[in-house]
Amino acid sequence: MKENIMDRMERIDAARKIADFQVKMQMPYDFKVKYATIRAREFAAECDRRGLDYHVSVGGLDSITLLLFLRSIHINAPGISVSFLEDVSIQRIHRQLGVECLKPLIRDTREDGSPIYWTKDSVIREYGFPVLSKEIAAKIELLQNPSEKNATVRHAIITGETGAYGGNRKNTRMKMSQKWLDKFGGADAEGAALGYAAAPFKVSAKCCYYLKERPCDLWAKEHNSVPYLGLMASEGGRRAKSLKINGCNYFGESTIRSAPFAIFQRQDLLQLALDLNVPVPEIYGTIERREDGTLYTTKAQRTGCSMCGFGIHIEKRPNRFDLLKDRNPKEYDRLMHRMTQDENGEWYGWGKVLDYIGVDWDEPEGGEKR
Ligand code: SF4
Repeated sequence: MKENIMDRMERIDAARKIADFQVKMQMPYDFKVKYATIRAREFAAECDRRGLDYHVSVGGLDSITLLLFLRSIHINAPGISVSFLEDVSIQRIHRQLGVECLKPLIRDTREDGSPIYWTKDSVIREYGFPVLSKEIAAKIELLQNPSEKNATVRHAIITGETGAYGGNRKNTRMKMSQKWLDKFGGADAEGAALGYAAAPFKVSAKCCYYLKERPCDLWAKEHNSVPYLGLMASEGGRRAKSLKINGCNYFGESTIRSAPFAIFQRQDLLQLALDLNVPVPEIYGTIERREDGTLYTTKAQRTGCSMCGFGIHIEKRPNRFDLLKDRNPKEYDRLMHRMTQDENGEWYGWGKVLDYIGVDWDEPEGGEKR
């Protein structure tokens, strides 16, 4: 019989591993940097032993810092990135550091055989908006695209009941939070029967896959290379738990990766960026110290693609859309109003999505909320 998730957690002693990891997260900065150095070197050595190359998957400040950290300890892993997705100031630093820029997946080919690549806009039009978080968006996407195959998962998202594979548990974390069930649960028949509403737009987590993850995976395969990632468990999200269970270096059957900063807190990352003189992309402003000693970046705290809605509901204003409005009002106007069309051919954009999830936003100069 297939092992259920509870038995698996017990077999791999997950609770103890998570507790050990959490202790390391509380250690001082110097310990963590030494720890990251040892783990990064171990990973490189194990890759050499297995005949694998390694690279750094580069995005914003965290992974730029990782690239320079590895160079500082003489691990010369090339940097790769789907750079065009990032803010121009990040792209500039990527070029300066010699990061190789990858293209997104090919969507189609023209008559002359030239490739048509997926773009942020085309993914949104085809699949939906990346909003809230990757996990929540993936759940909503399942609810909005019901099939026989995903019936058990949809039931778990609506009710929290997992079925046999999940150990027949009730009230699990598979259940979407009540707040979002109220707004999105009605896309599913069971949810609609419970009185939940359905959003008037599509939601999807596919954007990252088509634009970032898959192109990087394909590059890695072609180059027989495995990645160093700038992930930190303290940032939460989808991978926090697996980082805590699997630790910095993971050599699994289908995944091999190193996350030397796994035990870092934001403060450690910013301190290391200062110590290594990391060029900070303009979008973050500069790294400064508050009176109480904590470090912060004067502009964006985190970045991602300018039009990404992941995390927007928990971001303080001015949020990333506000900042984009100041930087590029024309682009902002387009994102808010003209991303895709509804079934009547009416154009709409992030404005409608933000209104629906209760995130306030402003019209560009001279405009009025439509
Ligand atoms: S970060 Fe957001 S916008 Fe960027 S590729 Fe991922 S889902 Fe798309």
